[in-house]
Amino acid sequence: MSHKQAAPATDPYFPASGDPCYRVHRYELAVDYRPVSNRLKGTARLSAVAGRDPLREFCLDLAAGFRLGGVVVDGRDAHWTHRAGKLRIRPAKPLEPGAAFTAEVRYTGNPKPVGSQWGGLGWEELTDGALVASQPVGAPSWYPCNDRPADKASYQVAVTAPSSYTVVVGGRLIARTTRASSTTWVYEQPAPTSSYLVTVSIGRYQSVRLTGRASRFDPRRPVPQTAYVPARLLAEFGTDFGRQPQMMEFFEDVFGAYPFEEYAVVVADEELDVPVEAQGMATFGVNHLGGRRHSERLVAHELAHQWFGNSVSIADWRHIWLNEGFAKYAEWLWSEHAGGATATEHAADAYTRLARQRQDLRLDDPGRRLMFDDRLYERGGLAVHALRVALGEGAFFRMIKGWTVIHRHGVVTTDSLAAHAQQYTMLPLDGVFEAWLRNPALPPLPTGR
Ligand SMILES: [Zn+2]
Repeated sequence: MSHKQAAPATDPYFPASGDPCYRVHRYELAVDYRPVSNRLKGTARLSAVAGRDPLREFCLDLAAGFRLGGVVVDGRDAHWTHRAGKLRIRPAKPLEPGAAFTAEVRYTGNPKPVGSQWGGLGWEELTDGALVASQPVGAPSWYPCNDRPADKASYQVAVTAPSSYTVVVGGRLIARTTRASSTTWVYEQPAPTSSYLVTVSIGRYQSVRLTGRASRFDPRRPVPQTAYVPARLLAEFGTDFGRQPQMMEFFEDVFGAYPFEEYAVVVADEELDVPVEAQGMATFGVNHLGGRRHSERLVAHELAHQWFGNSVSIADWRHIWLNEGFAKYAEWLWSEHAGGATATEHAADAYTRLARQRQDLRLDDPGRRLMFDDRLYERGGLAVHALRVALGEGAFFRMIKGWTVIHRHGVVTTDSLAAHAQQYTMLPLDGVFEAWLRNPALPPLPTGR
């Protein structure tokens, strides 16, 4: 193997995922899917760049169970093996350090979720259709990828399905062509995208446009927002998501310009434990509707991930609180803005809940087992609140906007946030970061606003 010495680090929580010896900058995926037989036939074309060492061999993640139809690197057949979810590829000729190369993989099979401690991840067959929810390591359930959140790439995804279905992929729909009884939907996502945030939703949906206020100053405003909803639930949807356009405006005020070209929401015709974010998109379940806005905090949470997690992405999964803490805090900010409980009140509630639970969670490195623990969300929101109290109103909101602008489409760590936030105050913030992020004990509730 080329990467024995000075190997770039693999993910501490998922050492088997991804290959740090090269970077992908573009994926072109063409997938044909038959819902009745759950049959997927795919071609993935990757444009990539070798790392600092010559690359004799590299790996893609692709779930076991797919049958490979061939692997071509730079136009030549490559040697490959596919075992335990790793597709090891040896190009006919080793790749020079820093060399650009292309890889093409053809594969077929019956996609199914990848098993994990959180249940199945990735491609999921529904009663009538399919959806993808990959966080954190489910992407290889449907396409070969360098499955690390930091290896962000642009995507073109073409999905062919029976014409009676609607296919939604985050990004701009650039073509839709029908041949015989099949329709091919081609979506383009030019923004750098983590592999786990690439999604597909296939179902029988009615599309609706959510419209916000037009801006005289910016023709890109309001951000185009489309929803895909089972037709019978449109009225409920209208209430439950009725304030999303205002939410978008509010978040643009607070977090800066929306980082993608559009935002799509799918309500899958299925109950989902939790909604899931994807690039420029989010997927909810029928249980998140009800006509009484009972899930509005989740509407805010998923929208906020477009800034926190999707645009500003984590270097590896240890830093997951940067996604979830800010998304949680966005729920509280929206509540306050919409005339509900204030962020301070939400923080006090979260604190009370946390104080009753075990104090064994280190926010900046929770470990794989606790990375999606409820406490990580609540304490993450509180850590952001602690920064607000420490910085004061003006500096805090300048800090947040600066964070999303400076790191737009980039990759960050907890240390990046500490260094960033420190620029907004003369007072040392080390104590705040130590108490809330590095020390598992629960510090006192931050007050002073
Ligand atoms: Zn979240």
